[in-house]
Amino acid sequence: MRRAFSVLLILIAFAFTSCESNEPRTRTELRMDTICSITVYTAEDEALLDGAFDIIDETAKIIDMYDPESEISYVNANAASHPVNVSDELFSLLSYAYGVSEASSGAFNIAVGPLVTLWGIGGENARRPSDEEIESTLFLLDWHDIVLDKDDKSVAFLTEGMKIDLGAVGKGYVADKIAAYLRKNGTESAIINLGGNVYMIGARPDGKDWTVGLQDPNSAHGGYYTTVVCRDTSVVTSGGYERLFTDTHGTVYHHILDSSTGFPAVSDLISTSIITPDSTLADMLSTATFVLGSEKAVDLVNSYGVKAVFLTLSGEEIRVGI
Ligand code: ADP
Ligand code: MG
Repeated sequence: MRRAFSVLLILIAFAFTSCESNEPRTRTELRMDTICSITVYTAEDEALLDGAFDIIDETAKIIDMYDPESEISYVNANAASHPVNVSDELFSLLSYAYGVSEASSGAFNIAVGPLVTLWGIGGENARRPSDEEIESTLFLLDWHDIVLDKDDKSVAFLTEGMKIDLGAVGKGYVADKIAAYLRKNGTESAIINLGGNVYMIGARPDGKDWTVGLQDPNSAHGGYYTTVVCRDTSVVTSGGYERLFTDTHGTVYHHILDSSTGFPAVSDLISTSIITPDSTLADMLSTATFVLGSEKAVDLVNSYGVKAVFLTLSGEEIRVGI
C-alpha cells in the first residue's frame, strides 16, 4: 500500500440510542490509499453508498498524480511543452489550490510534486535525498510558474520538470463532493471519514451535535487530546507524527514538506485541525498551518474566517474561533 504510513484517524466519539428507522449503515473500504468510511443514519439503501464510493473513484481519475491515466498526470506530463486544456472541474480545483498557495506564501504549495517524488513520499522507497539533490529541485517548486488561463481553461508550466501534487487537498475535495451528493439525495445525518478527513452532515440522529475527538499524536492507538462539538461541518487534521521513515541516525522524517527548505516542515505544531463546511479548504489549510507554525497559522485561519485547533510540541492547545 502506497501510503500506509499516512492513515490518520480522527476518533468520532458519540453515543446515542438508535431507533429502527435510523439504524446506521456503514461501509468501509480502502480507497485513495487510506481507509474511507461512510456512515448514513437515515433509511437509505446500498445504492446510495455505491454512488458515494463511485465519486471517490471518478475523482481519483481526475486528481490522483500516482495514477498515470489520470487527468492531472496528463497535465504533469505535458504542460511544460504546451498549454493543456483541462476539465472545468480540474480547472476550478487548481485555481482554488493556487489561491491558497499564494495566500499561505507557499506553505501549502500545489507545485510541491518534484520534492514529494524526490523524498519518495507515497512509495516504498522513501529516503533522505542528498543536499545537492534537494538544492537542485527547489527551482521547480514555484507555483507562480504554473500558468492557469481562465479563458481557455488551460494549464502550462514555465519550467520543465514541474509537477502538481493535489495530495494535500484531494481528500477534502472528495469529501465535499460526497457531502453534496448525499445531501442532494436527502441524507440528513451522516459521517464521511476519508482517512481522517471527516465531514459531518447535519446533526446526530438524536438531534444533538457530533463530538469529534482529535487524535493525540502521543497516544499509540485511538486516544484523543481534545474534542470539538459541531454539526454540518468538516474537520480535517494534518500531523507530522505520521512517520515517513526513520534514518540510520534515528532521525524521523514525515510527509509534510516545506518547499522553501526542501525538508519535512519543522514546526512548533504537531497537529493542526481546521473546522469549516468547506472541506477542500480545510484540507489545504491543515497542511499550510502545519508548515507555517503557530503564529502565522493563527493569522492564516483568521484571514479565511475558519475555526481551528492546534496542538503545539510542548502540549499547548490553541483554539481559534471556538
Ligand atoms: P494527509 O494526506 O496525510 O492527510 P496532508 O493533507 O497534509 O496529509 O497532505 C500531505 C500530502 O500532500 C503529502 O503526502 C504530499 O503528497 C503533499 N504535500 C506535502 N507537503 C505539501 C505542501 N507543503 N503543500 C502541498 N502539498 C504537500
Ligand atoms: Mg491537507
